Amino acid sequence: MKLLKKSELRREFLNKRDNISEEERSIYSERIKAKIKNLKEFKEAKSVLLYCPIRKEPDLTSLIWESLASKKLVLLPKVEGQELKLYSITSQEDIKPGAFCIPEPVGGKEFPPHDVELAIVPGVVFDRRGYRIGFGRGYYDRLLQKIVGVKMGVAYSFQVVEELPTDEWDQPVDVLVTESYILKGGKRYEC
Ligand code: ADP
Ligand code: MG
Repeated sequence: MKLLKKSELRREFLNKRDNISEEERSIYSERIKAKIKNLKEFKEAKSVLLYCPIRKEPDLTSLIWESLASKKLVLLPKVEGQELKLYSITSQEDIKPGAFCIPEPVGGKEFPPHDVELAIVPGVVFDRRGYRIGFGRGYYDRLLQKIVGVKMGVAYSFQVVEELPTDEWDQPVDVLVTESYILKGGKRYEC
């Protein structure tokens, strides 16, 4: 089968994701969160990049507060020009609506991507190798190439396909967590 173009896949999977109910979203998000919390990559990380969800992305907001409570350094991305810059937050007060109406961190000191131990990223569609298609602006590709820690994608299982078309700048994740399984090093774990 000929591979669909990135733009067609983006449209198809954004549409699928937009169509899940808030109830399903909430149930799946909790399952994804529970799986992340069980992983040694999360337990051992002292610094974690998370995100504020938009549209129907998995809602891991409570993981932000739980990570802070367990003394992890929490970073959130902020759009600055063509880049995603990382800022640490310590409470809800540090998050305000920003570019594209995405809640983002305000103020604080920029944190070097190089020092992030675990980077958790959403996506529109992933493949079994960890490749990812996002909104089409390449923001996470440019960020992920600077991450030396663990790169972890999060998605609902209906957002995972066998193989996506890739460009030379696309950055795969090391681990992919869905509500029903985890993909890591080409293996699938149901736990
Ligand atoms: P997405 O990953 O958001 O789905 P694409 O992979 O299609 O989007 O990338 C969108 C654009 O971002 C591309 O046109 C590409 O030129 C640009 N881009 C991605 N990564 C880089 C990079 N490391 N350096 C420069 N441009 C990049
Ligand atoms: Mg890309």
